[in-house]
Amino acid sequence: MFRLGAHVSVGGGIHRAVEREEETGGNCGQIFVGSPRGWKVNQPDMEEAKRFRELVEEKDIKPWIVHSTYLINLATPKEELGRKSVETMQAEINVTSKLGIPYYTFHPGAHTSAGVEEGIENIASRLSELDIPDNIRVLLENTSGKGTTLGKTFSELSDMIELSDHGYDKLGVCLDTCHMYSAGYDFSSQAKLDMVLDEIEDTVGNENLRFLHLNDSKYGYASEKDAHEHIGLGKIGDEAFRLFINHGELRKKPMVLETPVDDRGFAWNIRKVKELRS
Ligand SMILES: [Zn+2]
Ligand SMILES: [Zn+2]
Repeated sequence: MFRLGAHVSVGGGIHRAVEREEETGGNCGQIFVGSPRGWKVNQPDMEEAKRFRELVEEKDIKPWIVHSTYLINLATPKEELGRKSVETMQAEINVTSKLGIPYYTFHPGAHTSAGVEEGIENIASRLSELDIPDNIRVLLENTSGKGTTLGKTFSELSDMIELSDHGYDKLGVCLDTCHMYSAGYDFSSQAKLDMVLDEIEDTVGNENLRFLHLNDSKYGYASEKDAHEHIGLGKIGDEAFRLFINHGELRKKPMVLETPVDDRGFAWNIRKVKELRS
């Protein structure tokens, strides 16, 4: 079954996310469990969490993934920011578990002045501090690689995971198409996409790609800029998406859209992706 959804709001209660997903035509989804640009984590009570879990099953809209707040930086050389990042991630992971959501994703962070090696070591050791419940997998999202941001290449992501005490038992990768393209991975032909997947298999391993973010890119190949565009209307274009979403290694994985919300919205993008699906 093709699992395709969008990042939806939890405004009005977390169960409203499931209803919004249904309204856009999605059958899986992504949410924040706090302010995306703040440190506050929502604490749903047992009743609210139960209502969400029941609605997910009743409507068969799953799996879900929680996206962390953008403020988290596990790569930082600043102790205080690192500590706050670990505490906030732990709080978000605990809420994810309470909601019965199997995936949690975050951006690995920027090393600022510390250098790539120390940044990766910081990420791995701070990941090791997390208590990850058995029903959850924590996914590192690949990045565009702007500035000193880490996680631009699959080999960096595999280093972070393999250096952490959790390894692939508790960790994995969430692959974002906009970030991948702007980081310098071209998948505009079958041969090029196969080469990217070979690189993934040789580093993190295809089976450890647990979730996909479908976004076109406003900026060009290898631009290192993270700006999402509607599917097919950006620099990636229809043909690359057709190849990506239908590829044998990817087509069974859950996919969510993080495309802009303007006059088009998620329903338009979901219809578009379904048209490209064969
Ligand atoms: Zn993200
Ligand atoms: Zn993303």
